[in-house]
Amino acid sequence: MASGAEQPARPTGDAAVRGGGARPGDGAAEPAVPTDAQLLATLKTTFGHVGFRPQQQDIVRAILAGQDVFVLMPTGGGKSLCYQLPALLRPGLTVVVSPLIAHMKDQVDRLEALGLPATYVNSSLDAVEISSRQAAVALGRVKLLYVAPERLVLPRFLDLLASARPAFFAIDEAHCISEWGHDFRPEYRELSRLRELFPATRIGAFTATATRRVRADIETQLALEQALTFQGSFNRPNLHYEVRGKKRAYQQLVAYLRTRRGASGIIYCHTRAGTEELAAKLRADGLSAVAYHAGLEGDERRQRQDAFARDETRIVVATIAFGLGIDKPDIRFVVHYDLPASLERYYQESGRAGRDGQPSDCILFYSYGDVAVHKHFIAQKPSPTEQRVAAWQLRRMVDWATGTGCRRRALLAYFDERLDRQPERCCDVCHTSAAAAGAASAEQPAPRPAGADEQASHAPPAPPATAREVIDCTIPAQMLLSCVWRTGQRFGIVYVVDVLCGSRSQRVLQWAHDKLPTYGIGRERTREEWRVLADAMLDAGYLRRKPDEFNAVEITERGRAVLARREDVLLRVAGWGTRQPTSRTARPADVNANPADDALFEALRALRKRLADERGVPAYVVLHDAALREMASARPTQAAELRRIPGVGERKADDLGPAFLAAIAEHLRQRSE
Ligand code: ADP
Repeated sequence: MASGAEQPARPTGDAAVRGGGARPGDGAAEPAVPTDAQLLATLKTTFGHVGFRPQQQDIVRAILAGQDVFVLMPTGGGKSLCYQLPALLRPGLTVVVSPLIAHMKDQVDRLEALGLPATYVNSSLDAVEISSRQAAVALGRVKLLYVAPERLVLPRFLDLLASARPAFFAIDEAHCISEWGHDFRPEYRELSRLRELFPATRIGAFTATATRRVRADIETQLALEQALTFQGSFNRPNLHYEVRGKKRAYQQLVAYLRTRRGASGIIYCHTRAGTEELAAKLRADGLSAVAYHAGLEGDERRQRQDAFARDETRIVVATIAFGLGIDKPDIRFVVHYDLPASLERYYQESGRAGRDGQPSDCILFYSYGDVAVHKHFIAQKPSPTEQRVAAWQLRRMVDWATGTGCRRRALLAYFDERLDRQPERCCDVCHTSAAAAGAASAEQPAPRPAGADEQASHAPPAPPATAREVIDCTIPAQMLLSCVWRTGQRFGIVYVVDVLCGSRSQRVLQWAHDKLPTYGIGRERTREEWRVLADAMLDAGYLRRKPDEFNAVEITERGRAVLARREDVLLRVAGWGTRQPTSRTARPADVNANPADDALFEALRALRKRLADERGVPAYVVLHDAALREMASARPTQAAELRRIPGVGERKADDLGPAFLAAIAEHLRQRSE
């Protein structure tokens, strides 16, 4: 529904709303482009973000300056903000063309939660509701209108737009316009009429995936005029890539899922029957899973998708039908139980993990059997050209899955991008190589020479290398993290290990770290073992080196999850003896030294769920996990402190602040009793 709420920080009055659609030079006065300080202020007060992500500010400026834009940014990069912020700041209507109905509702829910006048019109609404929303558009009460392409070009809708004179068309998922893309939608082709119908309206194309050919196609189809192109990196630093052999896949999968209790994830399978079967098995094993595929009735699909969005179902086992428009930001893992047909598809599907930038996993199970299944289907394709293209795409997928070099590097190379800097949590290959470096390095296969992809043999590729046994290091990892925390995250690993092992060095005594509860709790291991574990934990992203402090390490978000006992630590660690099996009952008393107050975090989560249910929206529309964690850590007691939490803008502080502040106060009161 269009919100009647006041718009914060809108520089123009409602009278200006109908004046959109003009370009600089057309004689109409364009509003002055806001200064950087004004943009930042609106970003914080309305959206709750403390700064722009790479490219966002330039894109916002280009749109405000009346340019066509072409924005290629990875999933989770923050494309929506690039047109939402200008929509708020400039006069006139912004029309967002979006392919999926569920996606529109979600976006509008979020914008309304921020206090922005947005609405959508689609077939899920009855005629009365549609007329009332269209009337709101005609009256200039709406700043952002979401609509599907097939409706946009209906004659009556075009009449409405002609009177509203939209200032900007944002074409979301723009790759759907191209037959060369992996999600071609014929109805998107109709959008090629927009330029002719609305010559004065600027157009922006937004997509997360586009090879060179698809890009060219989008520009031509939409008749973009001197569009400013913004191409963000395809790199998703918060995603960890891993390929596993498909032997005992189900057992591997369940063991993994048990380490991700309470997290949301998608498991992709090839067939509808495969999704039903796997979801049923997971449920029988006590996991919260449902199947999703195109064979389900529309209502059933919607209901399952909603349950996932609202965290009532944790795992969706799906065919490729579950995809476009799933923009739940806190998906923590995407597992491919079967091999995808192309690397582009894999990038897109795995990319649904971690839109909120938090550490997330992408796991692919590989077997030659799956390759054979794909080959069988390729052979059935009618045209030799189609067969050739599909075979080439499959080959690249297989090369990637069986490659022995860095998976991130190889994935980016597919999109013609070079990886400059590897993140700490990169992929299984980098992780394994780093952990095994110095020990039995001869067992590691040499990285492939450049160009080896093209020369790959056509023999059935071997399953990916799994150099070492995975070890459950949860308890020692908790000890180590706890010691890093207790010593104030100001020291290097060598020193932390000294404390763990009970050193009587002058430095330890001088800092009085022999008085800490973690002092000496790691004595039964050698220093070398602890260092090896610490290195593996740095590689896996549980710890990171502080940028400006020589050697000092700090605990990452992922490490905090371990301390809070939400995540188990399974590592391939060369040089970590298994002589002392870790046991759940043997947790040292101090491992609970949790930086963010875990009980408070859970209380805030419960409150968020209640508020979300009351409002009929998914929990993440109320607030993201990251904001709740920050709250649990900072424990604000006043509205002004709450506003400083990233993710809390003015509207949310006013709307939700009292409830969250009360919950925090209650928690602090109970603790002090
Ligand atoms: P995309 O459409 O590119 O996949 P979204 O627009 O859905 O990405 O944004 C992904 C997430 O990033 C959302 O949760 C959004 O709130 C968040 N986000 C966007 N811009 C910023 C920013 N400048 N600072 C912090 N978070 C942001």
